[in-house]
Amino acid sequence: MSKHKIPILSIISDEPLKKITALAENNPELIDLVEFLFSEFQIDCTTDQEIIQGFDRDSSNIEGRADALSRPVNEYECALILASCQMAAIPLTISAGRTNLTGSATPKGGLILSIEKMTTPPIKVDMKTQTLTTPVGIYLEEMRKEALKQSNNKLHYPVDPTSREDAMVGGTLSCNASGFIPGPAGTTRYWTDSLDFLIPDGYKISCKRGEYISTNGEFILEFPDDTRILKIPSYPWPDIKNASGPYSNEKGKIDLVDLIVGSEGLFGLITSVTFRLKEMPNEFLDLFFTLTSELNAVK
Ligand SMILES: Cc1cc2nc3c(=O)[nH]c(=O)nc-3n(C[C@H](O)[C@H](O)[C@H](O)COP(=O)(O)OP(=O)(O)OC[C@H]3O[C@@H](n4cnc5c(N)ncnc54)[C@H](O)[C@@H]3O)c2cc1C
Repeated sequence: MSKHKIPILSIISDEPLKKITALAENNPELIDLVEFLFSEFQIDCTTDQEIIQGFDRDSSNIEGRADALSRPVNEYECALILASCQMAAIPLTISAGRTNLTGSATPKGGLILSIEKMTTPPIKVDMKTQTLTTPVGIYLEEMRKEALKQSNNKLHYPVDPTSREDAMVGGTLSCNASGFIPGPAGTTRYWTDSLDFLIPDGYKISCKRGEYISTNGEFILEFPDDTRILKIPSYPWPDIKNASGPYSNEKGKIDLVDLIVGSEGLFGLITSVTFRLKEMPNEFLDLFFTLTSELNAVK
């Protein structure tokens, strides 16, 4: 199979899909959609402004506003919410720990999808492959501690952004968060091995590093009864640690995992991830320098 062709999986069965289509045909108000998601699928949804207010701002402190909040607990509920909003043309904002400084989790009306209840199945470390699989609603520091615990301090997840106590795994993936390690190995993208991902109309993509690679600047998305082309960004990518904007390649060749990590929710919702882990060194050497000038530090 050609590596630039991506199979798109439908995870919503016919009956619920028919109900969503019927709802969307009646141009529903957001309140109708919330009522529908709750009564048909028992999804945690509310229009209570007292609850929503905790979610209408992120660390950018830009003022936001949302009319409803949903807190799905699994991938299927996420797919139902995404498909319903997409068909009914209702704006949706994905929200994790809300520690970003750019306003990317600040809603401008519509519905917030918070991933804070996406915390199962439990984190699992695989000692053989030296990987860790986690849902996206776990706080990053909790995940890092679990990597150490399950591996008896033999393996660790090296990405340590300062916000790691408050940022969730999904947020760090979407922002390609980076920590104190210099170079590409300091960023989330470097350690990401595979992802489960929902595109805005609720379809699913599972991808592993090396599995899907664009050719001539595009991926071909193979839906059950349709084919679409996804053009990839081609602006120059600086050869330094860089966490801004979706990944790019001037020659049109990108691993799908690299495109999704750092795309700030543009392409859809990440529901689960497998990270590579690093072996803990047996010994550490801490060095402390005092320097007389900034120039000496650069040297
Ligand atoms: C005090 C402080 C220190 C910081 N230190 C660092 C640092 O050292 N290094 C660094 O890189 N950043 C740092 N940041 C920035 C920020 O913490 C990170 O970018 C972090 O990764 C954001 O994660 P979050 O869970 O808070 O995501 P949010 O702010 O909630 O969301 C960020 C973006 O990701 C999207 N998103 C969230 N979850 C998903 C998902 N599952 N699927 C798709 N899209 C999703 C949102 O829609 C939004 O666009 C810091 C911020 C603060 C306030």
